[in-house]
Amino acid sequence: VTPYTGVPGTKHERTFIAIKPDGVERGLISEVIARFEKKGYKLVALKLMTATEARARDHYADLAGRPFFGGLVKYFSSGPIVCMVWEGTDVILTGRKILGATNPNQAAPGTLRGDNCISTGRNLVHGSDGPDSAKHEIGMWFTQAEIQDYTRSIDEWVVSDN
Ligand code: GDP
Ligand code: MG
Repeated sequence: VTPYTGVPGTKHERTFIAIKPDGVERGLISEVIARFEKKGYKLVALKLMTATEARARDHYADLAGRPFFGGLVKYFSSGPIVCMVWEGTDVILTGRKILGATNPNQAAPGTLRGDNCISTGRNLVHGSDGPDSAKHEIGMWFTQAEIQDYTRSIDEWVVSDN
């Protein structure tokens, strides 16, 4: 059984991806999910919820000293977000590439941020930035019972061991 926060460096690597309130409001939920789904990653957890300001502060605790922190907390807790855990080889780093750079104007065309937004303060999506934050974020947004361990019949067409 895979530990519910995943095993970085294996095909059971997991990352926390969230669609921020602007993405939900703008009707971009399916766009974000489609990108990860088409790539071949496996969705193992999904929920719509509204973060309290306290939770938003916790989630972004490493940015607490920054001038934009207050605005960021208000933004992130301003409406429903879609919380997800995606699994697959290299999903943490590759997931970040699918999102694109933090500043949408530096995000390459073809990325979610590059194609769908223009302000750093309204940049649509969140993704864990490394193995430690993935583990921490999956643990803070989900309980073990909310994560599904399952095998897809398509996996033999997506996942090769060599
Ligand atoms: P991420 O990992 O790419 O999301 O970027 P960071 O971890 O550096 O920052 C977290 C989030 O804070 C970003 O996604 C933005 O929503 C927000 N943020 C970061 N830098 C700025 C900034 O300079 N101005 C504003 N308004 N928001 C920022
Ligand atoms: Mg970050």
